Amino acid sequence: MDAIVKNFPAAGQEQVKDKAQQPVRPTQQEAEEAVRTLLRWAGDDPAREGLLDTPTRVAKAYRELFAGYEQSYQEVLGRTFEEMSGFDDIVLVRDIPFFSHCEHHMLPIKGMATVAYLPNGPVLGLSKIARVIEIFGRRLQTQENMTAQIANAIQDTLKPRGVAVLIEAEHMCMEMRGVQKQGSRTLTTTFTGEFKTNATEQARFFTLARNR
Ligand SMILES: [Zn+2]
Repeated sequence: MDAIVKNFPAAGQEQVKDKAQQPVRPTQQEAEEAVRTLLRWAGDDPAREGLLDTPTRVAKAYRELFAGYEQSYQEVLGRTFEEMSGFDDIVLVRDIPFFSHCEHHMLPIKGMATVAYLPNGPVLGLSKIARVIEIFGRRLQTQENMTAQIANAIQDTLKPRGVAVLIEAEHMCMEMRGVQKQGSRTLTTTFTGEFKTNATEQARFFTLARNR
């Protein structure tokens, strides 16, 4: 296993795109025509029987795989949170599986995210963390940006004492083409607040995240 561990920008430095800024969508017909072009580019004949419905299916699959462009973390996380008086220790959700697509080749990324935060009063419903990962996963991504976006979204809305995000993922663009490093995984982390400034909290995060 090849592991690359990097640190990425903390909250505030990464601008998370709002869905309102999205460009105008092409029509379904235009999207299907583009798929036919790519089929010809691959060397096949879009008119052969097995491929006749493929453009429609691909256009439909894209709406699902990239549904994250139509959602915002502000809507999912909201602005009001459950108060949990007295609980201020680390909350950690480990190994949440996700799929995404790399913005360089539009090929799949398959990974696991581990997210932790140090509450500052309110806490998040655990399913909301998974939904935030899904919003950012269902967009074209770099693993680095996705890691920072998840951390910043939680930091921005919940305003905890700190957020830690660790993503471990396999990139099909690396496994299927180019260098063909099968089974290699990329690790990325983003820390905000106390996870960034307090080495003990950061070490505790890694211990909890990697202890299987
Ligand atoms: Zn790629």
